[in-house]
Amino acid sequence: MTTAPDQATIDQIVSYIDRREDAFVERLRKLVDTNSGLDNPDGRLDCLAQMDRFYRLLGFTTERLERPGEMVHLVARRAPTGSAAANAPKVMLLGHLDTVFDSTSGFLSFQRAGEWATGPGVGDMKGGLVVLQAALEALAHVRRLDDFDWLAVHNADEEIQSPTSRELIERCAIDRELALDFEVGRASGALVRSRAGVGRYFVQVHGRAAHSGMHHADGANAIVALAAIVAELADLTDYDRGTTINVGTITGGSKRNIVPEEARCEVDVRIRDSAEAERVDVAVKAICAREHVPGTSAEVVGGIGRPPWRPFAGSEYLARLFVETGTALGIEVTAEDTGGGSDANFTAAMGIPTIDGLGPIGEEVHTDRERIQLWSVAERAKLVACSLLGWTPPPVAEA
Ligand SMILES: [Zn+2]
Repeated sequence: MTTAPDQATIDQIVSYIDRREDAFVERLRKLVDTNSGLDNPDGRLDCLAQMDRFYRLLGFTTERLERPGEMVHLVARRAPTGSAAANAPKVMLLGHLDTVFDSTSGFLSFQRAGEWATGPGVGDMKGGLVVLQAALEALAHVRRLDDFDWLAVHNADEEIQSPTSRELIERCAIDRELALDFEVGRASGALVRSRAGVGRYFVQVHGRAAHSGMHHADGANAIVALAAIVAELADLTDYDRGTTINVGTITGGSKRNIVPEEARCEVDVRIRDSAEAERVDVAVKAICAREHVPGTSAEVVGGIGRPPWRPFAGSEYLARLFVETGTALGIEVTAEDTGGGSDANFTAAMGIPTIDGLGPIGEEVHTDRERIQLWSVAERAKLVACSLLGWTPPPVAEA
């Protein structure tokens, strides 16, 4: 358990972060200017190294974990010391290193324009990484870093749904009391207190090619079969339950006068609860297993990669702490539900009080207009540092 921060401590945190603001912006510039897209393992490693150095300076021990696909993740730990050690809150910090911008994209650098900063990953989520750094530094400055048991995971594959880091995050989260994810804040300024679950499916239909004029009856039309599958998949959408199925891409065939041998589509699924996750997963597989056109067959890969994060008492409690701390600091902040998934879904699904959207306030992420309100980096850092100092375990009824 920590001791709630007194006003002098809060003032020191606030003035420390204000004084260091330019340094934080420079750090953000460097992270953003280091491309860390899917096609750029060296860039991701460079971002990882920047985080690694930061943690070591604060006395964390760090470990690099290599995974297939040239994915390297960073785990940083710091044990509590002194009299507070026995009851030190076990905090998990989450922040991915990758962005959706490949090294070949035309959007590669940090730009500042008044209150705004733009750049690839400036919101999602290098801005969040700098918020995290600023908050930890401020806690070190007021000599309260030792009050906590820290564990941070920085993965390199979040933008592709964390296939090589999910198990690591879940293993690291097992003994954690609370989890903080530093994804970009909502454009409204709100934090995130729940997220939809997210699934992805790839459907590939195999048919039989034949000349459309001479041998049409010998063919098995993969596009016609896929069209039937797509219609049935689309019908799984149920707005009342918050379930959406989006067939987002479709390709197939080779020539107008050839019965198409292949057709494929990609499907995005959003669900609000685990019963829906199960219903949709079973239905998608059943639809693809049936023969829609004689002589065709479909293969489906994928699944629900991120479990839904439903609001629950523990995460509501944590969200309330942040909102109340904000009020005390004169920072107006709310917490919202959102349809996008993140790594916070994993910790929340394990029942760990989780909050997300702690990164700066931003908009149009994943586009070449991605931008943040630059001042909100410092504001979020103050909010995080002071909220953590106010953490006490939830009453049993809310745990
Ligand atoms: Zn992100």
